[in-house]
Amino acid sequence: MAYDPDNIFARILRGEAPAIRVCEDADTLAFMDIMPQADGHVLIIPKEPAETLLDLSEEAARACIATTRRVAIAVRQALGQPGVYVAQMSGAAAGQTVPHCHFHVIPRGPDAAYRGHAAVKADPADLERTAARIRACLEP
Ligand code: 5GP
Repeated sequence: MAYDPDNIFARILRGEAPAIRVCEDADTLAFMDIMPQADGHVLIIPKEPAETLLDLSEEAARACIATTRRVAIAVRQALGQPGVYVAQMSGAAAGQTVPHCHFHVIPRGPDAAYRGHAAVKADPADLERTAARIRACLEP
């Protein structure tokens, strides 16, 4: 299927839609999920326009994994949970709802409160506070 350049993540990348950003480099952007499954839920996206991981260039996939790992390390430290769940859905049949490739980083542990997938909108002020904690734990 053709890539939809007006999907919400493409609009975030162009600065046309708001997002609480965690980090950005030449190839990737990380930002807070507005309906987090747990506090500290971050999304990592490539800047390359690709609907799924299967459509992504190998170079962009490497960049995404590197950023996902860097963010996951910071999320684990910032949220104080022992584990991190990393997920990537490719295709609506797999549960993908936004048609721009993305990786989920979600803290996991006995103290993490879990919510459903894209179920409850978080308070933006809470997301901003959590993003600041994650940013403070990012290694250069
Ligand atoms: P998927 O179901 O495609 O794997 O995940 C899409 C994710 O994007 C969901 O976790 C959902 O909460 C999140 N999401 C949907 N719309 C927006 C939005 O406008 N901004 C942000 N930051 N996250 C979104």
